[in-house]
This record gives sequence, structure tokens and C-alpha cells, in this order.
Amino acid sequence: MAEARLENFGSGLSPVSGGWFVVNVRDAEWFSSGTRGAACWFESEYGDPPVEFAQLGINITVLEPGQSTLYHAESNQEAFLVLAGECSLLVEGEERELRPWDFFHSAPWTEHAFVGAGDGPCAILMAGARLGPEVRYPVSELAARYGASVAKETSDPEQAYATAERFRRERPPSWSRLPWAGARTGGCLCGAVRYSVRGDPLHVRRCHCANCRKESGSAFTVFAHWPVDAFELSGELLSYDGRGFCPRCGSRILDTAGSDDTVVEIRIGSLDDAPFELEPEDETWVKRRESWIPAVDGATQHDEGDEAR
Ligand SMILES: [Zn+2]
Ligand SMILES: [Zn+2]
Repeated sequence: MAEARLENFGSGLSPVSGGWFVVNVRDAEWFSSGTRGAACWFESEYGDPPVEFAQLGINITVLEPGQSTLYHAESNQEAFLVLAGECSLLVEGEERELRPWDFFHSAPWTEHAFVGAGDGPCAILMAGARLGPEVRYPVSELAARYGASVAKETSDPEQAYATAERFRRERPPSWSRLPWAGARTGGCLCGAVRYSVRGDPLHVRRCHCANCRKESGSAFTVFAHWPVDAFELSGELLSYDGRGFCPRCGSRILDTAGSDDTVVEIRIGSLDDAPFELEPEDETWVKRRESWIPAVDGATQHDEGDEAR
């Protein structure tokens, strides 16, 4: 058996030819929607013919709180394993709260749907046999409360999804909170303060201002913003004027204070892995940049910055 060719059509890798393949969920193609959640199906609509799995449908679905799948029953056995977060399982008119590692065996013709719950994304591994195409979308009062029921019973998927939102080729917006997003770790020089951040930063910047020079003792600082949700800290920081540092070794690490509590600003020199492979997208206070430091290739250049210094 040949190895399949994988190509990226804008939101990750998908197979364009038959055969076996290995792909990380982090690198695979994702589709996203506002009401129906996001999914990675591992198959593809590309290739001639499209690469569809003949015997087993398998995907990872991500549901934000309130997002839902469509209440249905089908002739195939299905299996569901919650990987992260919380969701409500609507099953045969009942509601069950599911948490990580809860497994749901859906025997053929079990009516079911999922609704994202809790305060973050819920990731569910979904698998289903592909023995036959028979499916039924019953009207459910319970599911209707979550917008997960058809208005009129049907056995035609096209009719069931006729008014449903289309998926866009993009990763879910909660990407950095998902378990496969990958974590970076960092800390101070003495090890008393440790932290981790998941996913990619929102923004990376290099600053040459007088304050950054003073606080770092270097000619510039490089820092990045992550959502606070994606961040964990252990150990205690002291801070001077909102600049957090290790009280034992003095390493300047991160700022948790600030007017906007939704992001954390991290001096990325404190990351454990060097080089950290995060490139500044812009540079501020370049008028203070030393003549022997070249500009970052492709980074937006600002003569000054937000604050006067
Ligand atoms: Zn320290
Ligand atoms: Zn600065």
C-alpha cells in the first residue's frame, strides 16, 4: 500500500491520494462554523476522486458552549469519547453531562446530539461505521431548546442541513485552549518561577524604548501576548510598575497586570527552548534602535510606541 500525499489547502493538511498516512491533529485540516462547532475529518474533498474513508468515519469535533450537532439516529453504530471540556449529550429525550474520558456507545438507531457546555471548548473524538446511508432526523423538544432539532422530521440529510450554516476552511477560534495546541514552557533563571503557554501567541513585538532597555539591561526586549486562558504560572512574582520579575534571581518574566486582563505579556527570552522561533511582527521605538542592530525582516516599523519614553 502506498503512502497518501498530503496537501494544505489553507487550514491544514489533508490527503489528496489514497493509501495510508500519519498526520498530527495540530497540522490537519480544520473546518469551523459559528453554530455547529469545528471539525477535523481527516478525509478530503480534494483529489480525483475525493479521498473518503470507505468503512469508518472518524473526526474530532470541537464545540464551544452553546454550539451543537444535529439530533439524529442512524443505522450505523457510532462511538464518542470526550477528550477535553464539557458537553451535554442529548440521548433519547434525556440529557447527560459528559466530561473528559466519558465514552458514549451509540447503538444503531439511538437518537442523539451534543451541545457544548461549561466555559470553554469541548473536544470529542467521534467514530461511526459506514455500513449504510440510512438516517433519521426526528423532531425533539429537548434538542430544539438547544437549536439542535430539525423543524420537520426527515430522512434526507440534504433537507436536514438545508438551512444549516456552512463550514468555513479554518481552525476553531479557541485553538490555543485545545489539548493538541502544544505547550511552551519557561521560567526565571533560578527556577523559582515557572510558567507554560499553550498555542501560538496573538502577537510578537520587539521594543527598543528606553524603559525596555532599562528593565532588561539589554538594548531591546522581545515579548509576546497570549490569551490568559492559555497560560499557567507557578511560583511568585514581584512587580515594579506592572513589570513582573522573580524576587529571588531578578529575571524579568511577564506582566499579568494591565488594563486588559485577557492577555498576558511574556518576555519570550524566558522561554526554555532557544531559539524560540517566534518572530516579531512589529518593532516599536526604532528611533532608539542601535545602529548595529538590523531591522527584523518583514516586521512593521514604528518610530515610537504607545507610551512616550
Ligand atoms: Zn528566579
Ligand atoms: Zn519598550
